[in-house]
Amino acid sequence: GADQSLYALIESRFPRDANETLLETEDGTRWSYADAHAAAGRYARFLSDMGVKKGDRVAVQVEKSPQALFVYLACLRGGFVFLPMNTAYREDEVDYLVGNAEPAAFLCRPDFEKTARAIADKHGTPHVFTLDADGSGSFTDRAENASADFDTVACDPDDLAAMLYTSGTTGKPKGAMLTHRNLGSNGLALVESWRFTADDVLLHALPIFHAHGLFVACHCTLLSGARMIWLPGYNRETVMERLPQATVFMGVPTFYTRLLAAPEFGRTQTRNIRLFVSGSAPLLAETHREFSARTGHMILERYGMTETGMNTSNPYEGDRVPGSVGFPLPGVEARVVDEENRPLPVNEVGAIQVRGANVMKGYWKLPEKTKEEFTDDGWFKTGDQGKVDDRGYIYIVGRAKDMIISGGYNVYPKEIEGVIDDLPGVVESAVVGIPHPDFGEVGVAVIVKKADADLTEESVLAHVKQHLANYKVPKAARFVTDLPRNTMGKVQKNLLRQDYEGLYKG
Ligand code: ATP
Ligand code: MG
Repeated sequence: GADQSLYALIESRFPRDANETLLETEDGTRWSYADAHAAAGRYARFLSDMGVKKGDRVAVQVEKSPQALFVYLACLRGGFVFLPMNTAYREDEVDYLVGNAEPAAFLCRPDFEKTARAIADKHGTPHVFTLDADGSGSFTDRAENASADFDTVACDPDDLAAMLYTSGTTGKPKGAMLTHRNLGSNGLALVESWRFTADDVLLHALPIFHAHGLFVACHCTLLSGARMIWLPGYNRETVMERLPQATVFMGVPTFYTRLLAAPEFGRTQTRNIRLFVSGSAPLLAETHREFSARTGHMILERYGMTETGMNTSNPYEGDRVPGSVGFPLPGVEARVVDEENRPLPVNEVGAIQVRGANVMKGYWKLPEKTKEEFTDDGWFKTGDQGKVDDRGYIYIVGRAKDMIISGGYNVYPKEIEGVIDDLPGVVESAVVGIPHPDFGEVGVAVIVKKADADLTEESVLAHVKQHLANYKVPKAARFVTDLPRNTMGKVQKNLLRQDYEGLYKG
């Protein structure tokens, strides 16, 4: 099980015939498990010949390609710590991460090479290589010629396997130190919970710099001997065309809303799928309803984070409850507590904490922060707030940082957003707290409406007032064309707060 290095675990679960396909790209090229193993061996041999040692970070900011995945596997084989970076990050963001992580090698996109070299020089990173979306570049030019004869480096389950930075939704990204045990145990829990087998074909359209596309999707595949259709990214037309060849699809909520925006999307595309998974951000009840009406499939929503991998999931068999993220996964404990870390009764809203082999070792170079975010008995404070119902289903009501304290009352934006979203003509909404001289904080509703919608600030606020207590009613409503989102589809409430924080000042 998870008491070994992640690569040893993966290898022990290779299909009996290693020539079975692991990856298939858009143009029909296939890579078997044996191919991936050999490529990972060559890359690990090359990196190790360059002086990269066990425990060193290998920073990777490249477009998605089969080779990019083999770099990850090479790191696992070599005992290097894989450090993927969001491809949307520009110079300043990469500079921060490289300075913080101090990698021994940096693989970048060819068009970023000049900048990458300057950043590497500044921080003393010894090696910079390029890797392009088609698998070419100075890295593969050289590493493909290395000997595939490489003895996988033995790792302790508590050694670091990867370091992923959080999405930076609430502040500066933090490096989460993830061990072989963290990733292995969580991968096995998902395979078991979601019934992955060698017969599965996963349509992979997610980025691989994030836990969702890298760990959830790839580990489910690698630990069950399944296959992936490897798309370079999310393109709705390609996804619709390829869905009939797959049995599993994983996405962030925007993947699903975009599919639903295509009038021709329906059972024709989804007939062979046995499982649709959503996570990384809340799935709207509306999306849930429409998806099941159009396709007959209930999307399975799960909840996780960079620091912990996956925490909870709706059941594979049994009720998938819209608005809930389900139950703790095998080996994961979850609870809802008050400010003194005391468990709360059913249906009371509090802080969500998790514990288990999935939870990271700590934040990279942030020992104080790490200490703060764990209780004495090892519970990790997720920063999310939620409740548990009498059947044990967990609901997330939002992030602690987004909670509004108005006139001494706790106000949960999600509740208000739900009421606003029910108004005909509303596409979506976000409620954020801003400073107010009398109330401390008040809510502002930021709303995207349909072009033909007859909505005004007054009509929206009157509607909320009809449904919710006075202290929950936002003081203002503003209409915008789009909500700011980061690349994982998360609404960036910190940006919205900045936009409106001056509304009631002076
Ligand atoms: P940062 O920690 O840097 O502010 P982040 O929390 O967005 O960024 P991630 O680790 O990518 O970084 O995201 C984890 C968070 O995403 C969770 O803490 C939770 O708030 C949210 N999340 C994940 N899945 C769900 C879900 N199914 N429903 C609601 N929220 C979710
Ligand atoms: Mg977070």
